[in-house]
Amino acid sequence: MGYALALDPPRILRMTADNAQTGGGSIAIRGLRKEFEGGSIAVDGIDLDVASGEFFSLLGPSGCGKTTTLRMLAGFEQPTDGQILIDGTDVAQTPPHKRPVNTVFQSYALFPHMDVWKNVEYGLRWAKDVPKGDRKGKVDAALELVEMTEYAERRPNQLSGGQQQRIALARALVLEPSVLLLDEPLGALDAKLRHSLRAQLTSLQRRVGITFVFVTHDQEEALEMSDRLAVMSRGKIIQLGAPREIYQFPRSEFVADFLGVANLMDVQVESSSAGVGRVKLGDFTLDAQIPEGYQAGPGRAVIRPESLHLEEGELSGDNRLPAMVERVVYLGSTSQVFVRLPDGTSVQSLVTNAVQEEPWSSGDACRVRMPAESLHVLEHSVDHAWSDADPVSKAG
Ligand code: ATP
Repeated sequence: MGYALALDPPRILRMTADNAQTGGGSIAIRGLRKEFEGGSIAVDGIDLDVASGEFFSLLGPSGCGKTTTLRMLAGFEQPTDGQILIDGTDVAQTPPHKRPVNTVFQSYALFPHMDVWKNVEYGLRWAKDVPKGDRKGKVDAALELVEMTEYAERRPNQLSGGQQQRIALARALVLEPSVLLLDEPLGALDAKLRHSLRAQLTSLQRRVGITFVFVTHDQEEALEMSDRLAVMSRGKIIQLGAPREIYQFPRSEFVADFLGVANLMDVQVESSSAGVGRVKLGDFTLDAQIPEGYQAGPGRAVIRPESLHLEEGELSGDNRLPAMVERVVYLGSTSQVFVRLPDGTSVQSLVTNAVQEEPWSSGDACRVRMPAESLHVLEHSVDHAWSDADPVSKAG
């Protein structure tokens, strides 16, 4: 009974080494477009490289084109234009089942009449290169990987949502794809379970070393799990980078707003050279990060609430301006302190509650410090729109 487990777990785990050695599971997308009948453009010219073994997320609001991109990678949807290369091979003519990819959907799509073991084994029955004698070892190994060995004999309706999702993962992993596509796989689960599965999924991906392309509209999920992520809007990638980079240096109002809480302010940019420059916020001059090639003039600046500090006392020091506390919202470990700036803009600061007493109350005068390294002027050129409200259409 123990032989298969003893022999086979390394087989899936060995993919880590294989992928690393061969660069297996790399994706190159060039000029990818999808226009549906009726003129709706779901994907509008995407260029993207995903490295072998990377955990990559496509993040964006409903209707921005994430799923259509994933479906083209899987082969379920034909591109109108552009190329998809997996490990350097153009897969345009490759049917879905022959691509080195597998997909995990939000709806687990498990067969209700089969037990867990048979559900996982199902795909292997059609895999011509897997001898029948090898199936048991592979299924056992996949179940072990998602820590569901002891549930092998249960039917899907005897499992929780999280357990069913782990079986769906095992079923995809057992085929040893180079790339695993995940379409909102945690979307159907409650918040607590989603949190714990995020960590499990990330750790699983690290162990198997397969490239993951993960679709989500949940920014926390994408920030927590991904090596890199692409923020999409209206069929385009509008920013791409590591989670920290995108969160801290959003290039557009759309990205700043979509990823967490952002303080957005109207400013007058005085300096047009890249790097630290000067902006005017009402009557106050502040140092801020200015994008390359920025033309002096009116603009928008952003700072995250955790970077906006409140201080007591008279106004003195750089990058500070006077403010009035309007409202304090207690959140347990932190409080949101809303303050009004002299030009009328309302901004918020996230204050850690290390002491018993709330340090601020409404009506308090304070000074706001916005460190120059955290205050960014947004680029003029970046398009931002919620795609659901304004779908891209040729006719439009
Ligand atoms: P969600 O998070 O809601 O799944 P998404 O970002 O994955 O959204 P897509 O499903 O890729 O978005 O859809 C992108 C756009 O393409 C939407 O405006 C959608 O209405 C449109 N679309 C998707 N499938 C079709 C189709 N088969 N025919 C016509 N339009 C479609």
